[in-house]
Amino acid sequence: MYDADVIIAGAGMAGSTLALALASGGLKPLLVDPQPFDAQLAPTFDGRSSAIAYSSFRQWRAIGAGEALEPHAQRIEQILVTDGRTPGAAARKPLPGFLRFDSSEISGRIDGEPLGYLVENRQIRAALSQAVIDKAIPVIAPMAATNLEVTPGAARLTLSDGRVLTAPLAVSAEGRGSVLRKAAGIGQIGWGYGQSGVVCTVKLERPHDGVAHEYFLPSGPFAILPLTDDRASLVWTESTDRGEALRGSSPQAFHAHLMRRFGDFLGSVEVVGPVFVYPLSLSLAERMVAPRLALIGDAAHGVHPIAGQGLNLGLKDAAALAEVLVEAIRNGEDIGAEAVLERYARWRRFDTVTNALAFDAFVRVFSNNNPLLRVARGAGLAVVNRIAPARRFFMHEAGGGVGDLPKLLRGQAL
Ligand SMILES: Cc1cc2nc3c(=O)[nH]c(=O)nc-3n(C[C@H](O)[C@H](O)[C@H](O)COP(=O)(O)OP(=O)(O)OC[C@H]3O[C@@H](n4cnc5c(N)ncnc54)[C@H](O)[C@@H]3O)c2cc1C
Repeated sequence: MYDADVIIAGAGMAGSTLALALASGGLKPLLVDPQPFDAQLAPTFDGRSSAIAYSSFRQWRAIGAGEALEPHAQRIEQILVTDGRTPGAAARKPLPGFLRFDSSEISGRIDGEPLGYLVENRQIRAALSQAVIDKAIPVIAPMAATNLEVTPGAARLTLSDGRVLTAPLAVSAEGRGSVLRKAAGIGQIGWGYGQSGVVCTVKLERPHDGVAHEYFLPSGPFAILPLTDDRASLVWTESTDRGEALRGSSPQAFHAHLMRRFGDFLGSVEVVGPVFVYPLSLSLAERMVAPRLALIGDAAHGVHPIAGQGLNLGLKDAAALAEVLVEAIRNGEDIGAEAVLERYARWRRFDTVTNALAFDAFVRVFSNNNPLLRVARGAGLAVVNRIAPARRFFMHEAGGGVGDLPKLLRGQAL
């Protein structure tokens, strides 16, 4: 007798989304997380906001979290990408090295969907955890998974209190430090960037009109991401040392530093809430599956936030895995069988590896002040901007609308 159909270690954004997706297809998931489940809702838990592709948002609507998220989701109508030192330049006059993405240019979206949405992570976590509670999905927390053993027909997951749970399949949604990945002997490649992502939320004096800005400054990208109520989430890269200095700086010193970076094109800005500093690195699991184990989200691939795609990749994993498992059970297959897990790995592996490597190349090309690279990337941005099909391709890619989309990302039920 199993404890669940699928035991998911990690009730973060990817794990909770998978649990809801599986439940929507009639499976019985169970979530385990070392954090108390309601701790995720505290404003100090995660100060980030996420750019959510329109296809990812469709999945949340399809699994019952969309309605709660709607009031907190800021539509992104336009994205301006500038290679330069002067925030706001692209909004004022076209420079050779800037790229403009406009939501009116992409077709194939449902009901005038925008390019994407900006949502605070704490609102995403609140909506997902409420939906998990509403659907009566069992959550064991605070409790860590500490080991995984495989016996014929079962994954046996040991918890930190010594209990052992069994299911046909275990999923690691534990983030970058996945214990189950290591227990299954799956190696990981990756490297640090010597950079940190500095994140804060600001209240803007002037309306942002749903425009997201990304500036490629010598130290790395600086993003101004529109939030509801004319607020914005700022994400920029600094060297690890500068990031640490900013973490410890006084509010006045932080504000002065910010204004030097940000400029004044949106009027004055007021920092609301704490400043968060995240070390940035790449980590890529060598495989996405092992006997009776599948990896999703950052447990499988942790990428640089340069393109705002890390969580979107994890949500795509969740949609693809849920579809494979629901189809398998309807066909009378063992959902932990190697052939079933291989279908998931084949679907997601190429996309995750190519994206991780593309973001890595972006970071190398865009986070430096080499004059030749400055000219080359300026030319690249200008060329893409002139060719409408190329621009549309990038918009679909950012919106998650290309490739073999799982049903949930097309807005369809499982
Ligand atoms: C500065 C910054 C900005 C970003 N911006 C964006 C963006 O705009 N758009 C985007 O798509 N992505 C963005 N990302 C990436 C995104 O935040 C991550 O990809 C995402 O949070 C990963 O979610 P996850 O659920 O896979 O992992 P995590 O968020 O790491 O969650 C893992 C969960 O597993 C639990 N856990 C850990 N160990 C165990 C264990 N042994 N047993 C059980 N549970 C365990 C943890 O407590 C946690 O709840 C950004 C990242 C950074 C650093």
